[in-house]
Amino acid sequence: MTNRRAFFLVLASLACSLTVTAQNRPFDFAQGSPAPARTELAPGVFLFSTPPYGDVGLDGNSIAVLSNDGVLVFDSNGTPAASAAVLSEIRTLTDKPVRYVVNSHWHWDHWYGTETYVRAFPDVRVVTHEKTRALMAGPAIEFNRPGLESQLPAYLESLEKRAAADPKLAPLLEADRLFLAQKKNAQLVLPNLTFSDRLGIELGDRHIEILNYGRAVTPGDTFAYLPKEKILLLGDLIVNPITFALSCYPTEWLHSLERVDALDATTIVTGHGAPLRDKTLLHATMDVFRVLLREGKAAKDKGLTADQAKDAIFPGLRDLMITITGDDAGRNAAFKAQLVDWYLHRVYDELDGPLTDAIAPIPRS
Ligand SMILES: [Zn+2]
Repeated sequence: MTNRRAFFLVLASLACSLTVTAQNRPFDFAQGSPAPARTELAPGVFLFSTPPYGDVGLDGNSIAVLSNDGVLVFDSNGTPAASAAVLSEIRTLTDKPVRYVVNSHWHWDHWYGTETYVRAFPDVRVVTHEKTRALMAGPAIEFNRPGLESQLPAYLESLEKRAAADPKLAPLLEADRLFLAQKKNAQLVLPNLTFSDRLGIELGDRHIEILNYGRAVTPGDTFAYLPKEKILLLGDLIVNPITFALSCYPTEWLHSLERVDALDATTIVTGHGAPLRDKTLLHATMDVFRVLLREGKAAKDKGLTADQAKDAIFPGLRDLMITITGDDAGRNAAFKAQLVDWYLHRVYDELDGPLTDAIAPIPRS
């Protein structure tokens, strides 16, 4: 990932919907998203991966767990058009209703498409952690407002100028415009069922554990475990390949992952990227966290700033980085910015005093 791509990953995380006041404007959802890629993880359990939104947004993975008594959807995409494309795929697989939608955390790319399911299935239970619901109800929208109101429109303006001179950019411009339109018109749906530690769902022949092991990448990370199928649906607790550590809870996150690691799983679905069939990436990411916690504290004790600490610690992470990135230059840059830099800043914040549930700003460096 180049720096420019890394920038747009950040922009994408900012490029959220406006408030619910935007609801009234009609939007042509029929323009839609392309069909998502479908992977069967186990009999009746499907991962849907949506292609990027032009060059301004990356969507989260969405997983459907089918049963003889209905469907559970884990994460509902970043736009109503994307979730509609997933739902039409689900409809080719079963005629049973979607009974549950579970949202893993407050980032837009995991829940802005929920309205599709509520429209289609008015009785659907939309589930998340109580802290995630509280963040969705206000702070998440405020965090994303600058991206949607100024940064993304400004980028579109510059792209329009470039596209006027270079017609090859027209499809990209169209995709970016569609993304902005979808965001502006998304009708945000807050979960109607919350939990604190654990919620067991019996859905036909399925048993699904909805779990939270404490604060991790966000205050209310929600993940799912299917013990019979040995499948974990982790949301952004881990991202394949580079975990995104903005505004995280460093010590508690590592503890969460240690408990996750103790669960018997042979398939791990991360918030983005291809599913994992072993724990190599999980373990390498946890080892990065351990180094940053230990060496970040030592650096702070010596009086180094977080940025100085990053430069001092980064070379020692090389082997772990290569395990995670395959030594791809773009991925190495993303590893340094989104994992090392952001995590380390939060290690420093944590050492300065207890972390609150408020969303921390993106570090400038
Ligand atoms: Zn995400």
